[in-house]
Amino acid sequence: MITSTFQPSETTPVITKTLHHQIVFIGGGSAGLTTASILLKRNQSLDIAIIEPSQKQYYQPGWTMTGGGVFRIEDTVRDKKDFIPQQATWIADRVVKLDPDNNAVLTQEGILVEYDYLIVCPGIQLDWHLIKGLKEAIGKNGVTSNYAPNYAPYTWELIKNFSGGNALFTFPNTPVKCGGAPQKIMYMADDTFRSKFGVRQRTNVMFLTPATKMFSVPEYSALLDKVVVDREIDVKFRHNLKEIKAETKEAIFDVFDDSGTAVDEITHKYDMIHVAPPQSAPNFIKQSPLAVPGSTYGWVDVDKYTLQHNRYSNVFSLGDASSLPTSKTAAAARKQAVIVAENLLAFINSQPLLNKYDGYTCCPLITGYGKTIMAEFDGYTGTVLSSFPLNPIKERWIMWQMKTTLLPWIYWHRMLKGEQFEGDYIKFIQWRNN
Ligand SMILES: Cc1cc2nc3c(=O)[nH]c(=O)nc-3n(C[C@H](O)[C@H](O)[C@H](O)COP(=O)(O)OP(=O)(O)OC[C@H]3O[C@@H](n4cnc5c(N)ncnc54)[C@H](O)[C@@H]3O)c2cc1C
Repeated sequence: MITSTFQPSETTPVITKTLHHQIVFIGGGSAGLTTASILLKRNQSLDIAIIEPSQKQYYQPGWTMTGGGVFRIEDTVRDKKDFIPQQATWIADRVVKLDPDNNAVLTQEGILVEYDYLIVCPGIQLDWHLIKGLKEAIGKNGVTSNYAPNYAPYTWELIKNFSGGNALFTFPNTPVKCGGAPQKIMYMADDTFRSKFGVRQRTNVMFLTPATKMFSVPEYSALLDKVVVDREIDVKFRHNLKEIKAETKEAIFDVFDDSGTAVDEITHKYDMIHVAPPQSAPNFIKQSPLAVPGSTYGWVDVDKYTLQHNRYSNVFSLGDASSLPTSKTAAAARKQAVIVAENLLAFINSQPLLNKYDGYTCCPLITGYGKTIMAEFDGYTGTVLSSFPLNPIKERWIMWQMKTTLLPWIYWHRMLKGEQFEGDYIKFIQWRNN
């Protein structure tokens, strides 16, 4: 019997079919596939459905490498069907409406999916439209972004063919996935410009960000301060990109004072510009009762330790769409996945939720070809962490090797399959900040 309150309208499809599953996932990306795999490892008889529209699974951290000419874009993608756990049901459709009061979601094709438990992980929305002129300009005439697979190869085209001028790299005034990505590509660009006779001398490399420091964790930020000075990169804090004028190749920025008030507007000519777009929760989340009430970004409102929804106890969320106040990365989603799986199983068995997520995240900060700062940290306290027996506050060749070879392999062969975090095996020799 259809109990949901979905009424057909321009944005609400007519219900054509009803399904019921014990556990329903919205999104089978990094977080969804990992969590579903862990759950099924714990209990094969769980009835799990994954609602996921895409036929492709991307290794998004690889897009930085594509922009830097290290990976081809084809190296970052696999068929989704090979990663949906065999015991799970894949509903290849997109969720458009949520009705948590009736334990139901509605898809674009009109499938009403009822659930006992819901796991929400549809990732983040790229709000290109919030920068005037960007949607029209992106992908040609010097405007690019590694935040989408169709533009990352163009980033490398621009970098390798650059002959001098203004090379701009921007950060938006919203939270983003992988907070390091907007600057990692800049360091590879800088290396490439330096490798070609006279190009760097003719180039002004600029990093423009609304932030007031290079990174959220003081120790990593101090190291990056040194990197930008050594590379003679012109950093402009309190600058927010608001418009691209493609015809004249101009980028327009609001300039803020210490209180965050826009006090000036400045225009920079660009010969190439790499833009990290503004980001938020997908609109269907923002407009639902699952979102943090009254919030601008509309993240799924969960407890930061248990990952259970703050009002709907049979709903959990993780990954980029969740309200967890840590840096949004695949590395963070992997740690969150275990917590969601364990706590959901406890909840199903009417046990207390004892597993707590500690805010762990990791952003391997590429600072040039052959150099990476493996920036692991607790995003809740800003404390530096390391899964290795090495001080992480250092640019290292070995971490570049990890980033370019081992981490992609771990993603495809271990993380998405629900295998245990590798750092757990060498806990006893890990570096400690004391
Ligand atoms: C350029 C770049 C560099 C990065 N570098 C790193 C890095 O070095 N290290 C790191 O750890 N992380 C990095 N990340 C971030 C990392 O990729 C994300 O944090 C991670 O993928 C988040 O996982 P997720 O499952 O929340 O979202 P995703 O992996 O994006 O998955 C979301 C899934 O939900 C599906 N979906 C969307 N809408 C709906 C809907 N309406 N209904 C159903 N399904 C839906 C999508 O198709 C997708 O499969 C990077 C990201 C980018 C873009």
